[in-house]
Amino acid sequence: TFRAILISRDDDKKQSVDVVELTPDDLMDGDVDVKVAATTVNYKDGLAITGKSPVVRRWPMIPGVDLAGTVVRSDNARWKPGDEVVLNGWGVGETHYGAYAGLSRLKGEWLVALPERFSARDAMAIGTAGYTAMLSVLALEAAGLSPKDGPAVVTGASGGVGSFAIALLAKRGWEVLAVTGRTAEADYLKALGASEIVDRAELSDPGKPLSKERWIAGIDAVGSHTLANVLAATRYGGAVAACGLAQGMELPSSVAPFILRGVSLLGIDSVMASLERREAAWRRLSEDLDQSVLDQIATDIGFDDLIGAARDIIDGKIRGRIVAKMTG
Ligand code: NAP
Repeated sequence: TFRAILISRDDDKKQSVDVVELTPDDLMDGDVDVKVAATTVNYKDGLAITGKSPVVRRWPMIPGVDLAGTVVRSDNARWKPGDEVVLNGWGVGETHYGAYAGLSRLKGEWLVALPERFSARDAMAIGTAGYTAMLSVLALEAAGLSPKDGPAVVTGASGGVGSFAIALLAKRGWEVLAVTGRTAEADYLKALGASEIVDRAELSDPGKPLSKERWIAGIDAVGSHTLANVLAATRYGGAVAACGLAQGMELPSSVAPFILRGVSLLGIDSVMASLERREAAWRRLSEDLDQSVLDQIATDIGFDDLIGAARDIIDGKIRGRIVAKMTG
């Protein structure tokens, strides 16, 4: 048997979260079994465990959208027992039993080989947040932007996506403006590579369709008025990668930045991204992330702390990234 966190709903759709003992027979279909070595807490995991947003679409559900571990059984030609793998998204923890369990049964086509230089713990420090930040940087590069064009802005800076976005941009020579509600974290953000701290209050209220041009590129984890104001202050010909909704799902903006300044909005989805894009992102992560950056961003917890950490991330109390090593 192994331990798992299970979210259930009663007849009145009231949600409860329990730690349960399961056997492999309890798992859903899949051609590869992975012994989970480490997992993490993303904003989405917080939404699932608190029930704040309907991310869980099958009941009951084991949450957890990210895991790293070792293959222990495989009917898939790509994998054999002993292979170390990483899994991000694909509906795991939403429609398919997820990472918060000692054992996970998955589809082999979802898995990426753990890059050699990363431990399972490092891969989970990165997790969907770091991999999404990487997809965002790759999208800005594909749009033709580079550090010589001007500075980049990162919103939700002290969160998971934001922390990695800062580090990854700075590593490639970008000047980075970090937008945060936690200005007390200025030293942390500067250590990751931010050159300037912007109070998020400057961007979080309704603003003008166009404002003073401040940055050529952006990575936005926040949405809503913040994204609208980021677009309004993007320089002529710039681009903004939209990957999150921590402030809200709506985008109360206008077409002005697009049609008057040629600004582009780049949509970033990590969940259903192709294997090719995942492998490219993990390759670049293994090239660009210094161990010291991973250690600055990561906070280590145990399995028993996962539920509390999931609540904390929704309350905005988590800085950087949480990693949980699975033992037993
Ligand atoms: P996180 O660690 O909680 O980071 C979110 C950050 O946003 C917070 O740390 C906070 O940064 C800022 N924030 C929170 N509430 C805010 C508000 N009301 N107004 C303005 N800023 C606010 O979460 P995460 O795991 O990095 O995820 C960030 C977002 O990206 C989430 O919406 C998540 O669902 C999304 N996401 C999307 C994808 C994708 O595939 N597109 C993948 C991963 C994550 P400060 O304290 O520094 O202000």
